[in-house]
Amino acid sequence: MLKNSYKNYPNKKGYFGNFGGRYVSETLMPLILEVEECYNKIKDDKEFLEEFTYYLENYIGRPSPLFFAERITADLNGPKIYFKRDELNHTGAHKINNCMGQILLAKKMGKKRIIAETGAGQHGVATATVCALFGLPCVVYMGEKDIERQSPNVFRMKLLGAEIKSVTTGSKSLKDAMNEALRDWVSNVKDTFYIIGTAAGPHPYPEMVRDFQSIIGKEVRSQLRKVEGKSPDLLMACIGGGSNALGLFHEFLDDDKVEMIAVEAAGHGIQTDKHAASLTGGKPGVLHGNKTYLLQSKSGQIQEAHSISAGLDYPGIGPEHAFLYEENRVKYMSATDIEAIEAFQYCCKLEGIIPALEPSHALSVLRKIAKNYSKEKVVVMNMCGRGDKDIFTIADELNIKI
Ligand SMILES: *Cc1c(COP(=O)(O)O)cnc(C)c1O
Repeated sequence: MLKNSYKNYPNKKGYFGNFGGRYVSETLMPLILEVEECYNKIKDDKEFLEEFTYYLENYIGRPSPLFFAERITADLNGPKIYFKRDELNHTGAHKINNCMGQILLAKKMGKKRIIAETGAGQHGVATATVCALFGLPCVVYMGEKDIERQSPNVFRMKLLGAEIKSVTTGSKSLKDAMNEALRDWVSNVKDTFYIIGTAAGPHPYPEMVRDFQSIIGKEVRSQLRKVEGKSPDLLMACIGGGSNALGLFHEFLDDDKVEMIAVEAAGHGIQTDKHAASLTGGKPGVLHGNKTYLLQSKSGQIQEAHSISAGLDYPGIGPEHAFLYEENRVKYMSATDIEAIEAFQYCCKLEGIIPALEPSHALSVLRKIAKNYSKEKVVVMNMCGRGDKDIFTIADELNIKI
């Protein structure tokens, strides 16, 4: 491995430069250390990787296709645009890749009960799915407010056999649900495994989630070699906590020629207090067991995030992104709610793909910058989720009755 390889991060203590680490209570420490020890044992283990691959292929449906978006390419008259179609995975997004990896680890550790937190419910559904698959009881912490807003996903989780615990503390949303899940974990030390849904949380979660998602970029490398005979010139993805972006980017981080753009949710606009752009509009602090960029008030209180896209509505970002941001390795841009809706409609009409609102943010920025790239350039955008879940939000915004 190269000495300065980005792939050497995090260090042994879980730091990506100044970010990451393990900011947890003493009671939680032994649990986290056990996860780290077991993860280190299995991460290069042939038998574990074969089992993971088996479920990726036969249950999730990998590899996901790499699709040449011909009409959008023609319309934008710039680079060749490919979509990495992770929206075709079982449960409709990339999240299941990571849930599968973590539940296989939990089984190896002999854990008998799974807990998770969820905001919009996408990670809750993916976790409830793998729990049903392996017959493990599943408890999902969810803010009271989110339970009201996301009733279809709450119903899905119940169908899959999960128990939903309503969180009524604090702002009654995602960050409070995360705190409750951590509390549960401390009081059920012996039998419980906590499945975190993005590349955040205390070490080793950011590394582990990234590794489980990095199948996305690995597939892109071999798929693109076949059709274009080269590596991509530009990679693009949207950012909530940052797991689908790292999943696409990680494989290429050491290829200097590969440019990367990640797109945060600008909500009503970065200049307002209603957005979710933790890097562009936040500053360093500690949340959910790691040091990273966070949306916070002048006095350091965590501020509620806002995005029309529930999956991007998180006041922090994974620590590896905070590092890549300060290193200038990845460029971070943003798109507003309105821009994302326009890109959503554009993608439906030109490609016959109803995208989730999250990747619509990435597509929106791609539409704007395409003119800066010549026709021989190749762009891969992660189509990380499908939009069925978002049609009611869109109808609402457009004042259409369905
Ligand atoms: C949850 C979610 C996201 C945001 O999470 P990341 O960890 O940033 O990938 C993005 N897109 C979709 C479709 C999601 O469900």
